Amino acid sequence: MTETASLPVVRSVADLRAAVRDWKRQGLTVGMVPTMGALHEGHLTLVRKAARRADRVVASNFVNPTQFAAHEDLGAYPRRQEEDARLLAATGCHLMFAPAAEAMYPEGFATSIAMTGPALGLEGDFRPQMFGGVALVVTKLFNQVQPDIAVFGEKDYQQLMVVRRFVRDLDLPVEIIGAPTQRDEAGLALSSRNAYLSEADLETARKLNLILRQAADAAASGRPLPGIERDAYAALLKAGFERVDYVAVRHAEDLSPFPNGIVDAPARILVAAWLGKTRLIDNMAI
Ligand code: AMP
Repeated sequence: MTETASLPVVRSVADLRAAVRDWKRQGLTVGMVPTMGALHEGHLTLVRKAARRADRVVASNFVNPTQFAAHEDLGAYPRRQEEDARLLAATGCHLMFAPAAEAMYPEGFATSIAMTGPALGLEGDFRPQMFGGVALVVTKLFNQVQPDIAVFGEKDYQQLMVVRRFVRDLDLPVEIIGAPTQRDEAGLALSSRNAYLSEADLETARKLNLILRQAADAAASGRPLPGIERDAYAALLKAGFERVDYVAVRHAEDLSPFPNGIVDAPARILVAAWLGKTRLIDNMAI
């Protein structure tokens, strides 16, 4: 175990379990915030929320290879664990768990998790490996940390629904708590991947929020969804996005489509679009 600005950084499951066992022996509750590092204010709000709900908070910092496809940005994904540890220490986190990939997936690792339901469609269409990878790593992290609660951001809304589903399906004894998306002054959702964007790309990215807002308002007013989705798609391209994977209005709870094309229940609009080699996702309540 090493200490960074008074935050223990633990790399082995044995050290992690020893720390958690000690807390549990004292009757303390444990909250967890899974992250891939390169932390920003969005992550830190999850840590604060966990700290309000639990006595001790563990943040994991692990760029999970099983949720990236071979052509994706696993190698380029920003990594700055020392700075992350400093930020976590200043935010009320008690321990950072940063395992090596070989510790999480040792030679001979042979287990996978396949999901349907909320994992199908949207991200599932464009990143088919992603939610299986997320389910696997989050299940492992929950087994390692054994938290009472875990906080996930609505920024990755489909992921939040997927996590709630497999936690129910697999009877994992942890309460899942969602937290609202943190945005910059212009409404751009904070993301570790924003670090890839040039100034010009950032300007385009900041238009995403307004386009989503207008589409969400149109959907709330009862306009037919196919036209709204088409208009938002065209507006994104006009704003400077090079490619739009999807922009879709879905039921807020299970992400199923609205079969009659009108919003008549709690809904969410979700988008994924490309600026150069950077893929941005965002979503909004309707
Ligand atoms: P990541 O490190 O991108 O895997 O994200 C780790 C956690 O932080 C996930 O639960 C994300 O949904 C959440 N998160 C990422 N960006 C934001 C944001 N801008 N606002 C709130 N939560 C976020």
